[in-house]
Amino acid sequence: MGTSSSKLLFLDPVFVEKIWGGRKLETEFGYEIPDGPIGECWAISAHPHGDCRVAEGPFAGTTLSELWDTHRELFGSAPGDRFPLLVKILDACDNLSVQVHPDDAYAAEHEDGSLGKRECWYVLDADEGAQIIVGQHAHDRAEFLQMVREGRWDSLLNEVPIRAGDFFPVEPGTVHAILAGTLILETQQSSDVTYRVYDFDRVDAAGNARDLHIRQSADVVDYSAEPPADGAIRTPEVDGITHLLHNDSFDVLRVRVHEGAPIAIDQRWDYLCVSVVDGAGAVELEGEARPLAKGAHFIALSGAGTLRFSGEMELICSYVER
Ligand code: ZN
Repeated sequence: MGTSSSKLLFLDPVFVEKIWGGRKLETEFGYEIPDGPIGECWAISAHPHGDCRVAEGPFAGTTLSELWDTHRELFGSAPGDRFPLLVKILDACDNLSVQVHPDDAYAAEHEDGSLGKRECWYVLDADEGAQIIVGQHAHDRAEFLQMVREGRWDSLLNEVPIRAGDFFPVEPGTVHAILAGTLILETQQSSDVTYRVYDFDRVDAAGNARDLHIRQSADVVDYSAEPPADGAIRTPEVDGITHLLHNDSFDVLRVRVHEGAPIAIDQRWDYLCVSVVDGAGAVELEGEARPLAKGAHFIALSGAGTLRFSGEMELICSYVER
């Protein structure tokens, strides 16, 4: 302990097979993944459905949830009964279901004390013509239920074209679906509560459809939210850093590092989640450099101080404001 490298917690991702998944986590990110359609890489997660293990150092093999419970000082003694963030990469070879997530209050009451789920998407890659569903057009619960009953999906759902570099905040109560041909980095609250609105009438090999949750969906949809027209980033980039999102649950930054223009990030958080989504370079702290490449994920722990990034890289970082 005490060396700079022990302030960086590198994690081994958990890979999840999904009917809509593909192979891009292997071909694009170089991960060793299981056979079959792999849809999700849970890169930074302490959720029981995919609890990442520490890859190296004094805590190698320990799960992130165990570390949170037993070594809270590493996280600046941040409050909370669970590690609150979850960072995933999703490879959607086919459409995901149309879904909506509850907020903290609804989830606490109806989902056994779970957190709600606020998420956001940074588009890493998108096929020509790819689209995404974010937002819906019903004005109230009754109209929503009627449109669902009548299967008027084209009028109900707000479909938006996407391209690499787009960003979409997805608040609780926002109807959404990631559609085929999309590679996305998702930053979200550590929750797995999903209400499925529509699954494109798909059935599995045995002829079974996945469950729908129409009543819960109608309960939690935010009918007053204005659906977005696109995913263009409108916040300015300042010295390589774009503050993509700020809310009660977490903040998200995009950091673009270029040769000859290293970026220093001062520690203004208890801990910082970092994902290298493109390129290669290094992170230096306390005079010690550690190489980084696309697909690396780590948490800079409490006391890490200033992180100096160099090379040619794109990073997505997240933290909970203290
Ligand atoms: Zn979702």
